[in-house]
Amino acid sequence: MLVDGKWEGAITDQHIHLDRNNRFLDAISDFVNSGGTGIMLVHKPAFSGSLPTDLDGYRDAYNDTLDMASRVRESFQIDVGVVLGPHPVVWEKQIGELGMGRSTELHLEAIGLALDLIEAGEAHCLGEVGRPHYEVGQEIWQEANENLVEVMSMAASAGVSIQLHVEDNGEETCRELSEMCLKSGLPKQRAIRHFAPPDVSANFTHGLSTTVSVGKGSVDGLANSVTQADSPWGMETDFLDDPSRPGAVLGPKTIPKRTQELCSRLISDGLEIERVEEILSNVHSKWPKSLYGV
Ligand SMILES: [Zn+2]
Repeated sequence: MLVDGKWEGAITDQHIHLDRNNRFLDAISDFVNSGGTGIMLVHKPAFSGSLPTDLDGYRDAYNDTLDMASRVRESFQIDVGVVLGPHPVVWEKQIGELGMGRSTELHLEAIGLALDLIEAGEAHCLGEVGRPHYEVGQEIWQEANENLVEVMSMAASAGVSIQLHVEDNGEETCRELSEMCLKSGLPKQRAIRHFAPPDVSANFTHGLSTTVSVGKGSVDGLANSVTQADSPWGMETDFLDDPSRPGAVLGPKTIPKRTQELCSRLISDGLEIERVEEILSNVHSKWPKSLYGV
């Protein structure tokens, strides 16, 4: 609902990481005090520490994320969904240490475990899964794509959504992913491209869902494309909660701020109030509920 031109409804960050050794609850406090009402907490691999080399290691790592989600729920009156899965960059990094065969096997075992936890109601989405966002050799790229089709098939059978970590090759990336959805039987709307650019038009997304990284200037892109969207989209910070990478991603107050900016912009562009309310309530409430059940 809009009150005096200001959005007073739900505000959801669909992709945020937390770290109990860094800002953790303090970061959520910033989000809530700025108007935030819900998050999708995404599992963060210990890139700078030790990565799991067996399924027990994954169990411990996932439990840590689930436990942080519980702590947030205990401390704040906000909706908290959890996104669990093995990161494609971890898979690629571990090829050197474990070999391609074992790294892939571990990756798929970790997918299975995440799906079990989603089925048990502890988590709500598979992710971030996908493929390396940087250049890799031909053999690795092919394996990454085969793995991703397999992961999509598993998600399709389980009836869950996935958050996708992929390279940024614009519309081409979305086109390829939407073809992989068709191949695997995963409904395109259940494949959510994370860290997406601010173009939510159907021509760009090819029917995938997206969570847009709402950096400076993103409101222009959104305002220019919202009326041409035909699939769910949302907003994300990809906040990393890592003091060694300040400024690498957006801070926890960003989504509330951008939501108000987009709201004012759509009104000044001449959209009817009811239409603006419909868009913001889809983005922050209706679509997250349909994708994650949160
Ligand atoms: Zn992330």
